[in-house]
Amino acid sequence: MENRKTEKKHTAIVLAAGKGSRMHSETPKQFLELEGRPLVCYALQAFQESFIDEIILVTGEGQEDYCREEIVKRYGFTKVKQVIAGGKERYDSVYRGLCAAAPCDYVYIQDGARPFLDEALLLRAKACVEESGACAAGMPVKDTIKTVDADGVVRATPDRRFLWQIQTPQVFSFPIIMEAYSRMFAAGECEGITDDAMVAERFSPVAVRLFEGSDRNIKITTPSDLLVAKILAENKF
Ligand code: C5P
Repeated sequence: MENRKTEKKHTAIVLAAGKGSRMHSETPKQFLELEGRPLVCYALQAFQESFIDEIILVTGEGQEDYCREEIVKRYGFTKVKQVIAGGKERYDSVYRGLCAAAPCDYVYIQDGARPFLDEALLLRAKACVEESGACAAGMPVKDTIKTVDADGVVRATPDRRFLWQIQTPQVFSFPIIMEAYSRMFAAGECEGITDDAMVAERFSPVAVRLFEGSDRNIKITTPSDLLVAKILAENKF
C-alpha cells in the first residue's frame, strides 16, 4: 500500500535580523555568545530537536553567508531549508519569512533572541494552534501595569487578572497569518505593530488564544538580560 504522508507540515521562522541597538554592542545580539555559542543557535537547536519539519532563518542583509557557514553548517541544523535576509522592521522580516515558508500548514514565529525555548512549550504551542488556528505564548504578569500619558501621568490601572506578558513562539495556521499580513500591507497600516498576534487581531477574523509560555523564555534585549541568560544557560535543567 502507498505510504502517503498525511501529517501536517510544521515550519518555524527564526528571526535574527534585528540590530539590537539596546544591547550597545558591535555584534548584533542574536550572534553574541552564550556559553560559547551564538545566541540564535539555542532557538535553532530547540526546533532541530522537535517535531518541526523545516526552519527558515531570517537574518540581516549581508549576514546570510555567515549564518549558512558559521551557524547552520557548523552546528548541523539540517532542518534549516533557507537562510534569507529580513527587512527594516520585525514585521518586514516576518513577512519575508512567511513567503519563504510557503507551502506549509502551521508556522511557528520565534524571536532568535529568545534562547530558552523547550520541547514542552513547543508541544503546548502545537496543541493550541491545532485547536485555535492562531495563538501566542504568554505568562500572566506579576507586576501591576499602568497606562500613562505622554507626561508620565497615570491614566489607568487595568485589572491584573486579565493581563499577560507576550512571548514567542507565536503560532498560526499558515493561510490565516499569511492573509492577515497581506491585508496589513495592502492597507498600509503597519505602524506600531510589535508582534504577530497584533496582525491577526487587526486583520483576521480568527481570535488569538494564549498558551502558557515559561518564566525562562526571556528575550535578550539589554546587557543585564545577557547576564540572566548566562545563569539560566549554566543551570539548564
Ligand atoms: O527588536 P525586538 O527585540 O522586538 O526583536 C525581536 C526579534 O525580532 C529579534 O530576534 C530580532 O532579531 C528580530 N528582528 C528581525 N528584523 C527586524 C527587527 C527585529 O528579525 N527588522
